[in-house]
Amino acid sequence: MYSYRAPLRDIRFVVHDVLDFEDHYRSFGREDLNRDLLEGILEEGARFAEDVLAPTNRIGDEHGLKFEDGKVSTPPGFKEAYDRYCQDGWITMTSDPQWGGQGLPGGFSLAFGEMLCAGNMAWKMYSGLTESASLTLAAHGTDELKSRYLPKMVSGEWSGTMCLTEAQAGTDLSILRSKAEPRGDGSYAITGTKVFITAGEHDLTSNIIHLVLARLPDAPPGTKGISLFLVPKFLPDAQGNVGPANGVSCGSIEHKMGIHASPTCVMHFNESVGWLVGKANAGLACMFTMMNHARLGVGLQGQGVSELAWQTSIAYANDRLQGRAMTGAKMPGKAADPIIVHPDVRRMLLTQKAFVEGGRVLCFLTGREIDSSHLNPDKAARERSKDLVAFLTPIVKGFLTDVAMEVTSLAVQIHGGAGFIRETGVEQLMRDARITPIYEGTNGIQALDLLGRKVFGTAGKSQQMMVGRIREAITKFGVLPEVAPLAADLGRRLDQWNQLTLELGQAAMKNPEEVGAAASDYLQFAGYICLGWCWLAAAGVAAKKLAAGEPGADFYKAKLVTAQHFFGRLLPRCDAHAAAARSGAGGLMALSAEQFAIA
Ligand SMILES: Cc1cc2nc3c(=O)[nH]c(=O)nc-3n(C[C@H](O)[C@H](O)[C@H](O)COP(=O)(O)OP(=O)(O)OC[C@H]3O[C@@H](n4cnc5c(N)ncnc54)[C@H](O)[C@@H]3O)c2cc1C
Repeated sequence: MYSYRAPLRDIRFVVHDVLDFEDHYRSFGREDLNRDLLEGILEEGARFAEDVLAPTNRIGDEHGLKFEDGKVSTPPGFKEAYDRYCQDGWITMTSDPQWGGQGLPGGFSLAFGEMLCAGNMAWKMYSGLTESASLTLAAHGTDELKSRYLPKMVSGEWSGTMCLTEAQAGTDLSILRSKAEPRGDGSYAITGTKVFITAGEHDLTSNIIHLVLARLPDAPPGTKGISLFLVPKFLPDAQGNVGPANGVSCGSIEHKMGIHASPTCVMHFNESVGWLVGKANAGLACMFTMMNHARLGVGLQGQGVSELAWQTSIAYANDRLQGRAMTGAKMPGKAADPIIVHPDVRRMLLTQKAFVEGGRVLCFLTGREIDSSHLNPDKAARERSKDLVAFLTPIVKGFLTDVAMEVTSLAVQIHGGAGFIRETGVEQLMRDARITPIYEGTNGIQALDLLGRKVFGTAGKSQQMMVGRIREAITKFGVLPEVAPLAADLGRRLDQWNQLTLELGQAAMKNPEEVGAAASDYLQFAGYICLGWCWLAAAGVAAKKLAAGEPGADFYKAKLVTAQHFFGRLLPRCDAHAAAARSGAGGLMALSAEQFAIA
């Protein structure tokens, strides 16, 4: 059975040594966010994730949700954990003080977010979506809507949802049908059915605030005719407390492969009163505030569940006795050696470790850029960080969730037959992780976003900015003898990336289908390059610490070995992805639908 222990040693290494968040905040005049404060958050956050949240993870999977008379009951322990999360002030940590938040920049909070996702990914979704909805309301809502709803959403008294998907409109939101009729008093009557709505109904909060995409009567067709509305489950009364029901009902909840404790609801809106958020027909643009936040949140889910899978694997590999080491028995007093002696098991473990620890740097580094995009006093620097975050978002979401599938699958493999049965719990992690490449825009759509919008849409500017940042790291760490070969390797990969981007751009000018044909492999390629960047920085810092004779040499040596594993065995996957991306659309589009089906 798995149990979660927050990887504080590694989190500290990334937060303090690799990314130096204290210095980062100091440079923006936030001396208050010093190392002591950050340490306090890490330690207390770890305690919450380990002691309060993690014990509910298995219960949530086994017990699942109850749906009766349109009401959803969460599994035992969920409400208690949620109340504690609110009472202890975790929920308000990153929100704007104007609405009752504590104003901690969101970048650092990703470290706590990872712990929550590892502790219980399904539970984290309730508050995660509320955070995204609050940000969207803060960015696009009227002052009246903000003052009426944000204080209660920020405090966690009320939760939030995002209602985009309809049965016929998943990826393609241009064909959504939900309607919004003006009621003549500035509000609208919202009617329609949304499907797959996370936390559309539950018993953790007294009200649920839905952000709903719908069409006005005179809306133009397609995505240019979609507006965003705030629709509460219960209308607030004059004092702002929960008032009458608002025609919002949950028709059913889905029975799913994983995240059994997260309700995925069919939501009916029957002339429910709603208010416009943002401008009419500009709803999709407003919703992107929510989606971008949620996309990074899903990448973090991949990271969290990967960490838990890796922890479970290393514990099992040290415990399970099978066979003898090829070089002679390591534990002659026992019936067999632990499976960690076998090179193939080590291949799997090191692959997990390389993805998990590298992914952590990538997540927190993105968080650092998010902070910079808000706090940097230099406008041009803020804009650069904004572009970098936009570029990294599909990579964090798409790459780290595909990685989560590999890491959780390896966990099952390392457990052998025990991994396939329920008792060990490791199969839950693979089932839970499986949704992450699907929701918040499938990874196919993330790939199109990266190559189509972020690379070609900026005429390569964002990709070049990224290359520039990575070259800075190569220059900085390439002078260290231990990591110089890694830096040189990464430099060659950047040349390969530039060449690939150029060739694909030329192909796409002749045939737009080339973008779709190459996008997924391009995203993988970019993901490996970004992780190479992260591993170069981690290895460089570790090498410096070793050279300085700092305590904890084993930790730093392990960093260097894992970096070698990444560069030797995982980064070369770029070659296969580059070849696949280059192979073009011709073969993919050659068969008719009928020819495909000939058996
Ligand atoms: C557990 C769960 C929770 C969810 N939570 C929410 C929520 O809270 N709110 C909400 O609004 N939605 C939610 N969703 C919906 C989710 O975001 C969608 O399932 C997802 O966006 C994909 O849409 P779809 O399922 O209709 O698949 P489809 O759009 O039918 O896609 C099927 C396949 O076709 C591919 N495809 C489709 N169009 C294109 C294209 N143009 N180019 C290339 N490939 C394409 C996709 O990548 C995918 O592989 C949730 C779904 C699940 C399962």
